Parts: sequence; structure tokens; C-alpha cells
Amino acid sequence: MFAILLPILLSIIFWLWIIMKYDKFEREPLKSILFVFVIGGLISSIPAGIFNQIFLSIANHYFYIGLAENFNFEKSRLFYGFVGINEEAIKATATILLIRKMKDFNEPADALVYAMTVAFGFALFENMIYSMNYGFITFYIRQFNAVPMHIGLAAIWGIGIAKARFLHDGKYLKVVAPYILIAASLHAVYNISTTLIPGSFLTFIILAVCAFFLIRFATRKIKRYTEDGPFSNRLFCHYCNTINFPFERCCKNCGHKFDLEFYVLCHNCNVKVIKNAPSCPKCGAELGSEITPMGS
Ligand SMILES: [Zn+2]
Ligand SMILES: [Zn+2]
Repeated sequence: MFAILLPILLSIIFWLWIIMKYDKFEREPLKSILFVFVIGGLISSIPAGIFNQIFLSIANHYFYIGLAENFNFEKSRLFYGFVGINEEAIKATATILLIRKMKDFNEPADALVYAMTVAFGFALFENMIYSMNYGFITFYIRQFNAVPMHIGLAAIWGIGIAKARFLHDGKYLKVVAPYILIAASLHAVYNISTTLIPGSFLTFIILAVCAFFLIRFATRKIKRYTEDGPFSNRLFCHYCNTINFPFERCCKNCGHKFDLEFYVLCHNCNVKVIKNAPSCPKCGAELGSEITPMGS
């Protein structure tokens, strides 16, 4: 029992540490993370598993992992396409339902943090089921491909959730849908590529490298969003890594103009104010001129 619980516990500590590490200016409370991890993982993995099974029985196709001779490639491609959209859409929906009213969801980086946390909960529950069916070795293997793949893809629609919340008045359905489609397509490609040469060590390495780059993309995005966010009182130049004071408008080292994705700088008191806000919540200065060009 201990031999099973210990790796599961280590996996949870490692991945939650990676997810939380880069959100450094206003870190999410551990209890919110654990809540989203457990509840998000359950409410996404259970319905996604049921829908995958329903799709399989409708397609009358029996799916055997690792047995190439049992593949009907046309049908399995259809199935993988379905798995991608099904799993990514359900994880994104679960994330939105859990965090949209949450008071800790107060900067764009948090959307990615919670999205990746739900996806990790999903991946862990899925992993435990796989391990029960195919042996515990599967648990270790999936730490290097399926788990980072799920976590990394969540960052893609996490960006959509951040934009919907902070730039588009909470229009989640419309704003997040295209990001879900991108993640779903990559998910389908990933699933298909696992079956091209089943059990091959080279496939394992290639997928692990892809998963590593996906995690790097995700953590860099969290880092950038939180550096540009309202809880850091400095301006980070993403060209030369110089840290600037908030009254600068261009990097003092390389001269690049600061262009924050979600915020504008108040021309009066230099705090970061969410784009589209009519006035600065700190000093009350009108910000209209920062949004629409002069004379329009
Ligand atoms: Zn610079
Ligand atoms: Zn101000």
C-alpha cells in the first residue's frame, strides 16, 4: 500500500509545486489549490470517462491499448479526435465553474494556475484508473508524457479564461472556445502519435520532450502574466529581463515600450489598471486617453 501511496503523494507535491512556483507575486492559497485539484479532477474525469465510453459503444469500436493489430486506424482516429475535444472541453468547463466567482481568482496568471491544477487532478484520477488496469508501471511512465501533456494543454485554454475574465466581461463561452479547439487538436495529435509505434522507447522520448516544452510554455506564460500583473509593482522587460520602476514607459536598458496584455499604467499614479477601466481605482484619474488614441 505504501509503495503505491508514496509515488502518488510525490507526484502531487511535485506537480503542484511546479504549477504554483511561477505565480510568485500573489501566490494562490494552498487550500484553494487543493480544493480545485480534488473537486476539479473529480467533476471533469468522471463525466469525460463516461462520454468516452459512450462514444466507444456508439462507434461499436473496442479499443485496446498497446495492441497494434487490434486497431482500426480510421475509427481510432475518430475516437482520438473525440477524446481531445471531450476531455479539454470538460476540464475547461469544470475550471470556469469552480473559479469564476472565486475571490482568489484576481489576476490573469491565476487562470492558468487553476486550469493546470484541474488538469492535473484529471490526469491523476485518469492515471490511477490506468494503473489499476495496466499495472503500476503505467503510473511512472505517464508522469513523463500524459501528465505534463494534460497540465500543459490546460495553459492554452487557461489563457482564454484569463482573457474572458479580465478583458471580455466574463464571456467565457465565446472567448474560451477557440482555445479549447487548439488544445483539443494537439491532444488528438498526441493520442494518435502514441499509437503509431506502440511501446516504442523512441516514441516515449519524443512525447516526453514535447510534454517538457509544453510545460515550459505554460510556466513561462504564468511568469509573464504575474510579472505584468497588478501584484508586482515593477515593470519587467521581456526583451532584456531588466526590472524597471513603474514610472518608466520604455525599458531603461533596451528602450522597448512596455505593452501589457491586460493592464494599462495610470498616467497619474503609475499603478496598473485593467484595460477598459474608465478611471484609475487608486487615484481616480480618467484613463480614456490611454485606451482610445487622441482625437478619435
Ligand atoms: Zn529591456
Ligand atoms: Zn492612478
